Amino acid sequence: MKKILSKIGLMIALLVMVVSLGACSKSSGAKRDVLKEDQQSKTITWGVKADTKLFGLMDVKDNQIKGFEVDLAKALTKQIIGKKGKARFIQVTSQTRMPLLANGNIDAIMATMTITPQRAKQVDFTRSYFDAGQAILVKNGSPIKNVRDLNHKGAVVLGVVGSNSVQNIKKFAPKARVLQLSDYSQALTALKSGQGDALTTDNGILYGMSIENPGYSVVGGTFTNEPYGIATAKGQRPFHNALNHALTKVEDSGQYNKLIYKWFHNVRGFDMKGAER
Ligand code: GLU
Repeated sequence: MKKILSKIGLMIALLVMVVSLGACSKSSGAKRDVLKEDQQSKTITWGVKADTKLFGLMDVKDNQIKGFEVDLAKALTKQIIGKKGKARFIQVTSQTRMPLLANGNIDAIMATMTITPQRAKQVDFTRSYFDAGQAILVKNGSPIKNVRDLNHKGAVVLGVVGSNSVQNIKKFAPKARVLQLSDYSQALTALKSGQGDALTTDNGILYGMSIENPGYSVVGGTFTNEPYGIATAKGQRPFHNALNHALTKVEDSGQYNKLIYKWFHNVRGFDMKGAER
């Protein structure tokens, strides 16, 4: 009898544990209100690139990430939280940004991320804050003058895992082989060491690389449209709406144009007006 009673006790204890674990995961997931939490902590946690000059690049001198997207994130944070609002930055790559958002490590992604219908099934996008387009970067003097020149067997195009550029390139140069690296600094190193004929991603990112490496040029113009949006987790409507509203405010105040000018006005060959929203 005692044995049966203790078995029943154990079963009840297990049942209670399972039920409370279930409740626990629910409250940390579905019930989160990112906007409320951020207003309370006076902090928004942004996922930004740290290997992408002009948008988000780690400055090893002071350990700060700098770029257009970092500045825009700071402006939006102040707009949403108020003067005391703090923007916290977490490094992401094209590959890690979606999982980090899904896990709640970051509140929003502002990392050269194109709004695509496929991605919009998993995340919500604000309206676009920057219009980029895909292009290619080659060594000066290369016989490759545009994307069509890459469409032959034996051509190798370098790109980054998790970017849509590695998918798009298959449509524009279907015969080329695509070699995917884990981030843009590795992709550039691969280009410099001759592992590929061209590196492909968005024009702004490639211009950032060519500023640092004058031996390499963006050629042939853009062949896709890449509107960048801020991604938030699904089910965070108040936060999403606050971001869209803050974007309008930052644009209307002239702050947005100042930031575009600050980062892009002396990038030779880059169409600053074409990128502006
Ligand atoms: N905008 C493109 C994308 O979202 C390429 C840039 C990137 O890898 O972030 O995939």
